[in-house]
Amino acid sequence: MVNRPAFAALVLLLANGAAGQVLLKGSVTSRDSGQFRMLPFEVPAGTRRVDVQLTFTGRDQGTQLYLGIFDPIMYRGAGRLSFTISEYDATPPFAPGPIVPGTWHLALGVVNVNPERTSDYTARIDFSTSDDRPTGIVLRSEPGWYKGDLHSHTGHSDGVCLSQAGKNVPCPAFKLVEAAAARHLDFLAITDHNTAVTLNSIREMQPYFDRLLLIHGREMTTLAGHANVWGTAEFLDFRIGYRNWTIDDFLDQVHRAHALVSINHAYWPVGPACPGCGWGWKEQTDFSRIDAIEIVNGYSEKGSWFQPPAGNGVPFWEEQIALGHRITGVGGSDDHRAGEQLDRGSGVGNPTTVVYASQLSEPAILAGIKAGHVFVQLRGPEGPALYLSSGQAIMGDTIHPAANGAVEFQVRAKDCTGCKAALIFDGRTVKSWTVDRNVQSDPVSLTLGGGRHWVRATLQDAAGSLVALTNPIYVNY
Ligand SMILES: [Zn+2]
Ligand SMILES: [Zn+2]
Repeated sequence: MVNRPAFAALVLLLANGAAGQVLLKGSVTSRDSGQFRMLPFEVPAGTRRVDVQLTFTGRDQGTQLYLGIFDPIMYRGAGRLSFTISEYDATPPFAPGPIVPGTWHLALGVVNVNPERTSDYTARIDFSTSDDRPTGIVLRSEPGWYKGDLHSHTGHSDGVCLSQAGKNVPCPAFKLVEAAAARHLDFLAITDHNTAVTLNSIREMQPYFDRLLLIHGREMTTLAGHANVWGTAEFLDFRIGYRNWTIDDFLDQVHRAHALVSINHAYWPVGPACPGCGWGWKEQTDFSRIDAIEIVNGYSEKGSWFQPPAGNGVPFWEEQIALGHRITGVGGSDDHRAGEQLDRGSGVGNPTTVVYASQLSEPAILAGIKAGHVFVQLRGPEGPALYLSSGQAIMGDTIHPAANGAVEFQVRAKDCTGCKAALIFDGRTVKSWTVDRNVQSDPVSLTLGGGRHWVRATLQDAAGSLVALTNPIYVNY
């Protein structure tokens, strides 16, 4: 009979709502080698995420421990000393799923403790009541213009790609991310329809894709319009109208979660031919609460059944800007084929949204989008680029010039020799010129008058097709 050493368990519950922490402490000796010890702890009701970290002494003296976890109903995984488990995602190989309140157990396996040795362990278990996603990932720490795609689908909704035998099958998320990495994008938002299951794939893929930031997104797919939401794993109710659920209620949910919302392909038709394609909620929408509008959608640009012209989301967007709303114009490929049909325009990275951010992390990219520090490249990440500034202000910023004084804007076009650049003032083209150098900066002076205005820039190729456009610099907004 093994004489088991006594161990002390210290439990701390913090008075922070239902969130809290448990510390399970104890010691093991060589007599415990080769045995498991089950350590019970209580998970409070309302917990959405459980984080576990096991530390112990004596590692340098040969002690080895193994850790697993069981909830009140089922086994959730084993094999790591530090892990997280939530409703939607978990550290591989642990299983995500509902966090059932009640008695859970850590299974502490004592692989080895050398003779005459004692090791002290502490299992720290943290409970969160909110969606604490791993937003701390920083892939690059320097500020800069980062290129990405904000709208894409995998087999977690209706994304398909060719199987080994050449059949269309639900496309594994990995294929889409590989396609985005092959285009050298800096970030990709995976926005499957009304689901957050992709979050678990992101947790698995992000360590491998250490140059491509995967942004937590989804396409809120209502019966009369689609909107991307970036930056939350919370359930967002898409059942507008059910039990009086309104667009305002939905926007409350998004902003409580500190996420951003972007109306997608608003310029598509509304009606039975394409339910939910256009934005059928226009009359009910308080546009002061909308963060972004998709002004270029890759899926619609080519190969689609109604073939709208490129950049056709601009009139819907400018209508709201004219009403005084500072809403960021963005692009999204709406890729549904893991980049397989680049030749038909529906490829990840077509278009590319370029964001000035303080670093390459999810919070910084979302802050850059919110600030409007954004331009869109319709020909992808290697295509022509376009920058707009006025003094220290860049696109998205607001300036307050002296009334009736001249204001100088700088339009810088890159990689578009022979293209036509234009400056657009309050929705009207006030100046256009030909770009004849690879990198060309042109000053344009405007007398703005008092009041509220917006000034933005566009770039068209020699045939008149839109290839890049900037967000506005706002005047007196
Ligand atoms: Zn859509
Ligand atoms: Zn979509």
